[in-house]
Amino acid sequence: MVLRVAVISLHTSPLLQPGVGDSGGMNVYVRELVSSLSQIGIECTTFTRADREGLPAEVLVEPGHRVVHIEAGPHHLPKEALPDISDQFCHGVMDWIHANEKPDIIHGNYWLSGVVGHHLKHELNVPFVSTFHTLARVKAEGGDPEPKWRDRAEAEIIQCSDAICVSCVEEEEQFRRLYGDSLGRIEIVAPGVEHAFFTPGDQAGARRAINVDPDVPFILFVGRIQPLKGPDVAIRALAALGRPDAQLAIVGGASGRNGDVQASEAHALVDELGLHGQVHFIEPKPHHILSTWYRAADIVLVPSRSESFGLVALEAASCGVPVVASAVGGLLSLVDDGETGYLIDGRNPDNYADAMRRILDDSELAASMGKAGVERAKDYTWRAAAERLRDVYAELGAGTLVTCHGVGEEST
Ligand code: UDP
Repeated sequence: MVLRVAVISLHTSPLLQPGVGDSGGMNVYVRELVSSLSQIGIECTTFTRADREGLPAEVLVEPGHRVVHIEAGPHHLPKEALPDISDQFCHGVMDWIHANEKPDIIHGNYWLSGVVGHHLKHELNVPFVSTFHTLARVKAEGGDPEPKWRDRAEAEIIQCSDAICVSCVEEEEQFRRLYGDSLGRIEIVAPGVEHAFFTPGDQAGARRAINVDPDVPFILFVGRIQPLKGPDVAIRALAALGRPDAQLAIVGGASGRNGDVQASEAHALVDELGLHGQVHFIEPKPHHILSTWYRAADIVLVPSRSESFGLVALEAASCGVPVVASAVGGLLSLVDDGETGYLIDGRNPDNYADAMRRILDDSELAASMGKAGVERAKDYTWRAAAERLRDVYAELGAGTLVTCHGVGEEST
């Protein structure tokens, strides 16, 4: 029997360009993981909200993976307004399911989709899997509090989920500490990297392709320009490095309600530190094209405040580039301190600059870190993630559903 999965990705589509607005690691995760599921014979439909005019009702990403655009609310809505249209979105998904076919599993991504997935579970009486990507309590710990009602909504989703996917042991420990898991529903499904693109290669050729001088230290930051990701730390670390020939490229765009303000602040910081000729703000790049940027770099900087996983660090390692990252969350799993790069406690730019200096001043160390990174990254594949998830789905299909008892009570 073919297994059918309804993947919910309400607030952002896997078809969108990652690295700007609401689109980032989750979009890459949904697109790559769901496509890999379809490649191992699982039929997947990803439901996302139509966020602009003229979108086709359905897009076939590849055989077995289609994206369905659900009309719910005005097209252009800020993320903050999306809780108001989640019922409408849910009805749209139900209408599609009635007109087409019933899924065997529902898989929600992010809490907004979790709200919808939770309703669908009760409507359809099928197992419900959650991947949160971020959680209110985790954000609060990182100094970025969310409204109380989001925390309540997440607690409701958690208590009725039949499985909860996390990316790594650090995320699992954090989840246990903040939410408990008396029913043993946490499953580690490590994300992957597309090795067909993200692979080591000729640095000089890559630099030619993107117009970077072959002889200068070239530092790369990839991600949305938001405080969580620490672009300010990257800029200050470049200043602290004290190498006027060094170049820093920041690839990514603004995100969130204050996105434009944060982007302007990053530009202002560059001016304030007198780094105009050294820092380059680059528009987001199609995912596969980024591999050229990684290959061109001497170091990839990931100074995030928190990170449930940290795909950028994995992609850099896979391209054979040393990573200097903050010692938080999934980055602890992805970077071997002193082996594939350096893990830095806190976000003092001087410490990032010291680590970068060590790598830049020692070409043998840089080469051995690059090699170790490739070795570290090689087992992370989307295929392996899909196979792991297939096992999770299969087990749920054979068991009984977790029943809903209200927030704070867990029961089977
Ligand atoms: N990304 C991209 N193009 C860009 C910037 C980022 O494809 O211009 C991708 C990047 O390759 C990575 C994802 O966006 O796969 C960001 O994921 P990460 O886990 O690092 O951060 P998140 O967005 O989840 O906070």
